[in-house]
Amino acid sequence: MFPNRGGGHPLQFVASATNGPQVPEHLSVPSSRFLLTLPLDNEVVNSLNSGIKFVADIMLKKLARWMRILGYDTIYPDFIEDERILELAKSKRRILLTQDVGLASRAGKKEVRTLLIPRDVDVESQVAFVLRELKLSVDFPAKTLCPQCNGELEVVGKERVRGNENVPAGVLERNSSFWLCKSCKKVYWEGSHWGRIKKAVEKIKKELAD
Ligand SMILES: [Zn+2]
Repeated sequence: MFPNRGGGHPLQFVASATNGPQVPEHLSVPSSRFLLTLPLDNEVVNSLNSGIKFVADIMLKKLARWMRILGYDTIYPDFIEDERILELAKSKRRILLTQDVGLASRAGKKEVRTLLIPRDVDVESQVAFVLRELKLSVDFPAKTLCPQCNGELEVVGKERVRGNENVPAGVLERNSSFWLCKSCKKVYWEGSHWGRIKKAVEKIKKELAD
C-alpha cells in the first residue's frame, strides 16, 4: 500500500485530532456478529469514552494498518498464541478483530469483546464492516495514526525533517508540510499514492452509506 522510500511514506496525514471516536451507543445492543456484548457499566463507559481500541490478530495486519489510517488505535501482536492474545485484549480492554472462529469462540468464554471479520472480501470491505458494526465514522485524515506503529502524528514543517535520511531532497523541495510520528519518527507526506488512498477511503465511505 505504501511505497517505501527508505522508510518515509509519501502520504498526507494531519495529526490534529486527539479526542478519539464517539462512544458507539449500540454497544449495549447485542449484535449477531458480536460474540459477546459486555454490559455498559461505568467502567466500560469510561473505557469507551477514552477511545475505542482494537487488537487485530496476526493475520489481519492489513486491516490493522487501515484502522490506524482512519484514526482508530489498533495493535497487532507478533505472536500467535491464543491465550496471550486474549489476555492482551482483556487486560487492555481492546476489541479483538479476528477471522479465526476458534479464537473468537475462546474469546467469548473469556468475556473478550470480539468482532469476527468476514473472509473473502477486500480490506476496504473489512474496514467498512468494523465501522458499520460499531457505528464508527470515517474522518480521514483528521484522526490518522501512524500506520507503521499506531503512534500519534504531528504536523511539521520542512525544517523538522530536513536532513532526515528518509526524506529525499526532491520531496523536501516539493512539500511544505510533513507528518512526523511521535513514536517511531517515521515521516509521511503527500505523494503519488495519495490518490489511491483517497479512492480506498471513498470506497469505504460508499460501503458504509449503502
Ligand atoms: Zn510510527
